[in-house]
Amino acid sequence: MPKIVSIKHSEFVLIGGGIMTATLAILLFEKFPGKKITIIEKLPTMAQESSEAWNNAGTGHSGNCELNYTPEKKGNIDISKAISISDQFEETYRFWKDCAQKGYIKNLSKCISEVPHLSFVRGKKDVSFLEKRYNKMKEEPNFKGMLFSKDKEQIKEWLPLMMEGRSAKEKVAATYYEKGYDVNFGEIAEQIFRFLRDQNNVELLNNSNVYNIQNTKNGRWLISVKGQNVGKHFKFASNYLYIGAGGGTLPLLEKANIKEAKGYGGFPISGLWLRCTNPEIIERHHAKAYGKAGKGAPPMSVPHMDTRLINGRKELLFGPFAGFTTKFLKHGSMFDLPRSVEFDNIMSLLGAGYQNLPLVSYLIKQVRLSFKDRMNELREFYPEADNDDWKVVVAGQRVQIIKRNKKGFGKLEFGTEIIVSKDKSIAALLGASPGASTSYAVMKEVFDKSFKG
Ligand SMILES: Cc1cc2nc3c(=O)[nH]c(=O)nc-3n(C[C@H](O)[C@H](O)[C@H](O)COP(=O)(O)OP(=O)(O)OC[C@H]3O[C@@H](n4cnc5c(N)ncnc54)[C@H](O)[C@@H]3O)c2cc1C
Repeated sequence: MPKIVSIKHSEFVLIGGGIMTATLAILLFEKFPGKKITIIEKLPTMAQESSEAWNNAGTGHSGNCELNYTPEKKGNIDISKAISISDQFEETYRFWKDCAQKGYIKNLSKCISEVPHLSFVRGKKDVSFLEKRYNKMKEEPNFKGMLFSKDKEQIKEWLPLMMEGRSAKEKVAATYYEKGYDVNFGEIAEQIFRFLRDQNNVELLNNSNVYNIQNTKNGRWLISVKGQNVGKHFKFASNYLYIGAGGGTLPLLEKANIKEAKGYGGFPISGLWLRCTNPEIIERHHAKAYGKAGKGAPPMSVPHMDTRLINGRKELLFGPFAGFTTKFLKHGSMFDLPRSVEFDNIMSLLGAGYQNLPLVSYLIKQVRLSFKDRMNELREFYPEADNDDWKVVVAGQRVQIIKRNKKGFGKLEFGTEIIVSKDKSIAALLGASPGASTSYAVMKEVFDKSFKG
C-alpha cells in the first residue's frame, strides 16, 4: 500500500489535460466563480494524448466531406447525422471565438485555419452515390455553397496531385466545400490551460497520475494521485469529479464503481499516418479530401489526404491506417486491455469480438500492411506518390466503447458516451467520435446533465 502523505480539498476535480477537460473547466470557471477547480494530468505537459496535433487529423468535422456520416439505406441517403455534426461544430466554433474574445484563447489564428473540405470517389457506383448525396445536401442551409463535379479538369483544379497520372477511363467525382477548417485541438487546449493556470481558484497539476477513485460515506470523491517525478502520493477530496482521461477513462471509471458504468468495455484501435516529407509536394495539395472506407473498416478509418497547418507550417498526411494494440493511451501500458476485463464486462467484450468479425479481420489485415502496401493505398488517392517522399508516423490511440445490449452481450460503438451518476457527483466521457470538433456541444451536455434539472 502506498503511503498517503496528505489530503487536499477541491470543489471540482477534473482528470486529464485534453481539449474536453479544458472546455469543461471553462464552463465551471464561468458558472461557479471563485470555486476551486483542480485539473490533474499525468504527463509533464497538457494535451499530449489524442488532442495533440499529430495524434489526430485536425479536421473540423462539419459533416460536409465525411461519407460515413451520410449512409445510403435502401437507395435513400440519410443526411441527418451530417446536419447534426455540422450544428455541433458550429456551436463549438462559436465557443472558441467567444473564448478568444474573453481572452481565454490568446491566439485563435494559431489554432484554426481555413482548408477546403472535399469528398472524392471513383467508379460508377460511388460517383452516382456522391451525386445523389450532393443533390440532397445542397438544399440544406448547413451545406450552402457546396459544389459538385464529375469534370476531370475541374477536379484537377481542386485536387491536382490526386488527378495526375489517373487513367482517362476512370470515372471520378468530387464535392468541394470552400469554408472547411483544419484545427489544432492541442493548441486550443494548451492556450485555455495557460489562461486557467493564472487564475487564483484553478490549480493545474502535471506529472500526476490518478490511480484510484473511491466514494466516501458523505457522497464525496476521494482521488488518489501519484506524483510521477517525485513518487509522492496524495489524495484529493472533491464534491464533483469529471474523468476526461481519454483512453484512460475506462479503468478509472471501473475504480469509481458506479452503477451507470457497469458492463462497459473498451477496444483499443491505434492509428498510423503516412506523412509527406517533400515540401514541394506538400505545397501542391490544399484540401482535406475524404474517400470511402474499405470493406469492414471502422468509420474512423475513412482514408483521407489531408492538409494540416501545425505551428505555422503546412503539412500533408494520408491515412489513418488502423491497428491493434492492447494500450489504451499512446503513453499507456500493454496491460491496459487485460486489466480492464472485469466480471461484469467480460460477456460484453466476448460478444463484441464475436459480433464484429469483419472488423477483427480488417484490423488483422491493417496490422500486417508493409510500408509498400500502405504506399499502394496512398496511390489509389495520389497515383504518382513516390516512396521517398513519405514516412510512417504514429497517430493517437482511440478506445472504442463496448456497450452491453439487452441480452447481456457487448456491441462495439463508434460514438461518444456520456456517463453521469444518478446523484450527479461524477461524470465521464467514453469514446472519441466525432471528437474534438464537437467538444463544446459534448461538454455542455456533460455540464447540463451534471448541474441542471
Ligand atoms: C487517429 C485519430 C484521429 C482523430 N481525428 C480527429 C479529427 O480529425 N477531428 C476531430 O474532431 N477529432 C479527431 N480525433 C478525436 C480527438 O482527438 C479526441 O476526441 C479528443 O482529442 C479527445 O480529447 P480528450 O480531452 O477527451 O482526451 P485526450 O486529449 O486524450 O486527453 C486525455 C488526457 O488524460 C490524461 N490521463 C490519462 N490517464 C490519466 C490518469 N490516470 N491520471 C491523470 N491523467 C490521465 C492523458 O495523459 C491525456 O492528457 C481523432 C483521434 C484519433 C486517435
